[in-house]
Amino acid sequence: MECFCLTLALKLEKLIFENLYHSVESVTNKVIEQIINKKQEVIMAVEYLCKVCRGNLNVKTSIVLAASKMNCSKRGLVFLNPEIGNYTTTTHPSFQIKEGEEYIYTCPICHSQLNSLKYKHLVRIIMIDDKGKEFDIYFSGIAGEKCTFKIGGTEMEVTGSDSERYDRYFDVPEEDRKYL
Ligand SMILES: [Zn+2]
Repeated sequence: MECFCLTLALKLEKLIFENLYHSVESVTNKVIEQIINKKQEVIMAVEYLCKVCRGNLNVKTSIVLAASKMNCSKRGLVFLNPEIGNYTTTTHPSFQIKEGEEYIYTCPICHSQLNSLKYKHLVRIIMIDDKGKEFDIYFSGIAGEKCTFKIGGTEMEVTGSDSERYDRYFDVPEEDRKYL
């Protein structure tokens, strides 16, 4: 009897230990999975790069560029919203962006001009999407104009009500257009 009890106790102990082990193991696996996912999220976030030095232009939730009004020496930093179709900009109060004025944008890292030489009034930066795919992003250098062209290989996405003004630069099929 004593022997039976001992066996039972040992069996129970083994069962408890195994269950405990499995639940600890499953929690650990879940935590590891979450860490990996989080890491991938960080790695695979959308990045914006300078077209010349390929330095990262996005900091926290903004794309940071240096800007100056055309034919004006006063320069300032402009924080652009990285969400395509969102044209809100943030600047220091001492450097106000005036609607309708054209701005020269430069990379804050290498100081290269980002305004396109090929396409007048447009500015080009590079986007790496969450899948690692590279695109050219063109937006208007004229403040207040809502226009973004996202071009990668044969893919093109056009956003913004003012983008039609620049259609002549690109051959834009109607289905690639978004009026935001
Ligand atoms: Zn640069």
